[in-house]
Amino acid sequence: MSGWKKSDWRSKPRVQMPDYPDQAALNAVEAKLSKYPPLVFAGEARRLKEALGKAGRGEAFVLQGGDCAEAFDQFSADAIRDTFKVMLQMAMVLTFGAKVPVVKIGRMAGQFAKPRSAPTEVIDGVELPSYRGDIINELDFTEAARVPNPEKMLQAYMQAAATLNLLRAFSTGGYADVNEVHRWTLGFTEADEAERFRDMANRISDTLDFIRAAGVNSERQHALRQVDFYTSHESLLLEYEEALCRVDSTTGQNLAGSGHMIWIGDRTRQPDGAHVEFAKGVLNPIGLKCGPSMTSEDLKKLMATLNPKNEMGRLTLIARFGAGKVADNLPRLIDTVSREGANVVWVCDPMHGNTVKSNTGYKTRPFDAVLREVQEFFAVHKAEDTIPAGVHFEMTGLDVTECVGGLKEVSYEDLKDRYHTACDPRLNASQSLELAFLVAEQLTS
Ligand code: PEP
Ligand code: MN
Repeated sequence: MSGWKKSDWRSKPRVQMPDYPDQAALNAVEAKLSKYPPLVFAGEARRLKEALGKAGRGEAFVLQGGDCAEAFDQFSADAIRDTFKVMLQMAMVLTFGAKVPVVKIGRMAGQFAKPRSAPTEVIDGVELPSYRGDIINELDFTEAARVPNPEKMLQAYMQAAATLNLLRAFSTGGYADVNEVHRWTLGFTEADEAERFRDMANRISDTLDFIRAAGVNSERQHALRQVDFYTSHESLLLEYEEALCRVDSTTGQNLAGSGHMIWIGDRTRQPDGAHVEFAKGVLNPIGLKCGPSMTSEDLKKLMATLNPKNEMGRLTLIARFGAGKVADNLPRLIDTVSREGANVVWVCDPMHGNTVKSNTGYKTRPFDAVLREVQEFFAVHKAEDTIPAGVHFEMTGLDVTECVGGLKEVSYEDLKDRYHTACDPRLNASQSLELAFLVAEQLTS
């Protein structure tokens, strides 16, 4: 974008960003990060944009998923592997249902900064600044822990780099072999409660047997043992984003080097605000969260600002209204898109509109509400004759108890057992795969 500078956001109104108390320390961190290598490359971001473009046309389907917030103290190879693994299982089931390739995008390797509903939080009469994600401050409820510390950006960068390194190794090093992935899924469908998915799993087995018999096997076909796996996060902490912004040497375009795709949250999408200003100038695919307060007028402005060339794949609209609210909100936005003749990729985030507080105090999400929102999203697109291009989940490969419901039922009582999220509740491995089967059924019906 000509004339745009990566620092232009600084002159725009900003929300949800920390005020760092030590400006010199912040400057030093920004200077350091600006010299570090980017985490992703322009060609990869362009390839993802093309893949998203296909999804927008119904020739692919998007699966975006991962933690609400990555955490420093939960960083481990096993956690990365397990989320990657369940996403591959889900992708395979969805490929079978949708009969198109699945574009796999982790909320990983950079998903550290969180917008909050209030700037402070009160516990037992004590008021402290809210936790804003490990890249900014700490979850501990003490005054010192809640002070924004710019040094944390360096740790976030290192964790993101190591996460991406492992994801790249898993994607190409044999771990993603379709036969292995399906074997794991058979482990899930063997359980009594998963009986209703056994038929689909067996049909996938038959398909794999058939292609193997026909001489197409993973030893010979790279496509059967390698995957493209992309990273994404909310572009919230703009000092971090600017410091990792790089000029692509072949085209002179600007790249957000912090992840393949970045998105703008529902709380930071002011058309004239800092977050939109930053995103508009980078070549990466951009996501835009659309909640119930998104007006047609705002959407119109945002589409014009973020995708002036009307490139298919550049802009993904991530609808997050809540079960029971999709029919009231999505049609008017679809109407705006069609009146503008805009090319967009519609993805459903059935998590953020369905958060409830349990009477034991835990934030949770009922599996049934999550499923219902996805179903409503598909139904509206069917009625409007538009394309539901994918899904966006907060999920983990770990066996946590954060969302209630599912075949291996998590009850409200169970929430306390393995509630590990630093922010919003995630679907566990079993709930994630179950949801993939249910979405796949929906796609085939
Ligand atoms: C999120 O994706 O974690 C998030 C905060 O979403 P939203 O901006 O849609 O509320
Ligand atoms: Mn969240």
